[in-house]
Amino acid sequence: MPRRKTVDHTAPLWVEAGEPTEAVLVSVAPVAPIDKLYTYTVEEDAEDRVLPGRRVMVPFGRKGRLAPAIVVSVTRGPWNSTLKPIAEILEEAGSLSDHLIDLGKWISDYYYCPLGRTLAAMVPEAVRKKRGFKTVRHARLLADAETIANARLGQKQKQVIAVLQENESPIEVGTLLEKADASRATLRGLIDKRWVEETQSREAVSYEPVQAAKLTPAYSINDAQQKSLNRIESGIAEAAFKAFLLYGVSGSGKTEVYIRAMQRVVDSGQQAIMLVPEIALTAQLMKRVAERFDRVAVIHSGLTGAQRSLAWEDIRQGKTPVVIGTRSAIFAPCPDVGLIVVDEEQEPSYKNLQSPRFHVRDVAIMRAQKLGIPIVLGSATPSLETWNNCLHRKAYERLDLPTRVMDRSMPAVKLVDMTHRSAPDKTVTISQPLQSALAETLERKQQAVVLINRRGFASWLFCPSCKSRIECRRCNAGMILHRLRKIVLCHHCHEQAPIPHRCPQMSCGGRLLTGGGGAERVEDELKQMFPTVRIMRADSDTMTHASKYTELVKSMEQGEVDILLGTQMIAKGLDFPSVALVGVIGADLAGAAGDFRASERLFQLVTQVAGRAGRAEIEGRVLVQTLSPNLPALRCSLTHDYCSFVESELAFRREQYLPPFTRMARIVISGKRESELVTDGNAIADRIRSVVEELGSEASNVRVLGPHPCVLERLRGSYRFELLLVAQSATELNKVLAAVRASGGFKSKSRSLMIDVDPVSLS
Ligand code: ADP
Ligand code: ZN
Repeated sequence: MPRRKTVDHTAPLWVEAGEPTEAVLVSVAPVAPIDKLYTYTVEEDAEDRVLPGRRVMVPFGRKGRLAPAIVVSVTRGPWNSTLKPIAEILEEAGSLSDHLIDLGKWISDYYYCPLGRTLAAMVPEAVRKKRGFKTVRHARLLADAETIANARLGQKQKQVIAVLQENESPIEVGTLLEKADASRATLRGLIDKRWVEETQSREAVSYEPVQAAKLTPAYSINDAQQKSLNRIESGIAEAAFKAFLLYGVSGSGKTEVYIRAMQRVVDSGQQAIMLVPEIALTAQLMKRVAERFDRVAVIHSGLTGAQRSLAWEDIRQGKTPVVIGTRSAIFAPCPDVGLIVVDEEQEPSYKNLQSPRFHVRDVAIMRAQKLGIPIVLGSATPSLETWNNCLHRKAYERLDLPTRVMDRSMPAVKLVDMTHRSAPDKTVTISQPLQSALAETLERKQQAVVLINRRGFASWLFCPSCKSRIECRRCNAGMILHRLRKIVLCHHCHEQAPIPHRCPQMSCGGRLLTGGGGAERVEDELKQMFPTVRIMRADSDTMTHASKYTELVKSMEQGEVDILLGTQMIAKGLDFPSVALVGVIGADLAGAAGDFRASERLFQLVTQVAGRAGRAEIEGRVLVQTLSPNLPALRCSLTHDYCSFVESELAFRREQYLPPFTRMARIVISGKRESELVTDGNAIADRIRSVVEELGSEASNVRVLGPHPCVLERLRGSYRFELLLVAQSATELNKVLAAVRASGGFKSKSRSLMIDVDPVSLS
């Protein structure tokens, strides 16, 4: 049981003579959609337990109803009679340093999330709850020899005292009772008499950081790596904020540069945080990094509560100099961070999908800026935001690793045009050229990777007689056929139903057609084409736990898999030397309709997955099946020409007044009644427009688009409308949002409203 402290919270109305004039002032942020901070006081003896970041209960409003809040700061100041005391200290763990509180304030302001909620999100629940620690009790003798000699004690009590007298230091209670052959009740009697004192402490059950046999690479780094490393090291030596973009093609040795830069800060007694976008990447990276450092903490969603909590505590004490992890690792409580690395900085999965809707890369940049330390952003296909920053901002510097290590060549990429296929061919997903390439690869005993961007068996079910598709009841999205699970499933709300064979419209009842192959179907086809081949499918249906990734990596490394088939989770990061062929199925923009980043994503996806081929001695090749062979994003990826792609895409974005030349905020309102939403959306749009007008020259470049229905117009039974705010700078954008909020322009009872600053997806 955690210790709880309850105090009477009825404060006196005026100060009587002799009452304190000074008090401990605790500023708290409610864990609720309230933007204000409130001040309370706390008894002096509890001061050391009320630390910034911890959760407390405080009386609220005139009735003094108790509500949770997070401590923001603890100071001393004049006491006054209106100050109420904190009612209860809920958690005695999960404190945040001043630096992290400050970072939280920035996130709260910038991403429009109340401070209490933001701070609450920065500490994992398992940490607050002190998972992985057990309560240990110790007993020690208080009474002196004389008191004991004069007392009349029972036999059992004597035995307990005898054991305690033998031990000078406190003894663990279980051991004590066993040695004395006494019961807990006997001990309790002695404690009640204050002859014995019992103390409690929380001790870690056991914690094993990731450790691996130490390994020094046999190679020495090449010139380009050395040059980049020199720049980063000089950044570390200067101890000032600086953002390095490490721009290097896949297999150019970026990870080696990260590791050496991290070694530099660890050698000087500081810590390094390395962020990776997905758990799939951690498995292999973790091992590579663990081989090079004494102690590495890994933070990702697959950890148990106890593991997470213990790792966090270890990090807080500065015991683990290197932290690797996905999103939440950016809040790792390292006492003295010297370097932050963000691998695959362009990844959309760095964006938090719940409030606070922060972008981990941008929070990392802000953390580095506030600490005055360098940050390394690594990518083969940088985000247009970062690329553009390198062109225009002084604090950014681009470092290039233009070629693969050991003069290995980039894989040859070919497009397979799927628009001109003959009729019988159209029923299968795998084209003739891809089938032959797979056959050759398998014959040479090499491995192949096949990427398909959809899971399930068929992505549509269609009734030809009434010309309608089978949709989710609650979303305006098609149901996806999952044959292995024998269901149709909505990928947006997870609604499922038995597979229908006839049109559900009563009057129709036509026989349904299915089509649009997903991962399950490709697996089927592969099995028919190559019956003896070992195929592993990796999508969110099969990769249900972190351990599955570890198994995947192991099976690939040990050559137990011939074809690795999967969705985009296998597109990046993985480094398997015997992969000679990569096939991409269905490379087009269909999946990202209406999103201005669709081309950027397509280029990144094809380039990334292509990078899985030919990483060691074997030459790699890549076949990309597409229905849109003329897309510039695909044409540029044939020659790995990021620079041409980015140049034309930047020109387009500038012309269209889109990020990175502008800043965007997306406001989504949703509710059950469509007509109300339209009225509401228009009212908000009017409110914003008039605020923009009032701000005049301070917001002269702000555009307001909408309201219009979202791409996914209905989700979980609610209609959704969006408004887009586009401004020339973040400052301008924030001014408008703040002014609208201050005027109550976002308030409404009938619907929910979400504000997403710097959205990465417009679905
Ligand atoms: P990236 O992160 O850019 O894709 P990696 O750091 O994973 O590239 O490097 C690719 C492979 O090359 C890894 O197996 C790594 O051990 C190896 N490697 C890295 N640097 C060198 C080097 N200078 N000489 C030889 N091999 C290297
Ligand atoms: Zn649905």
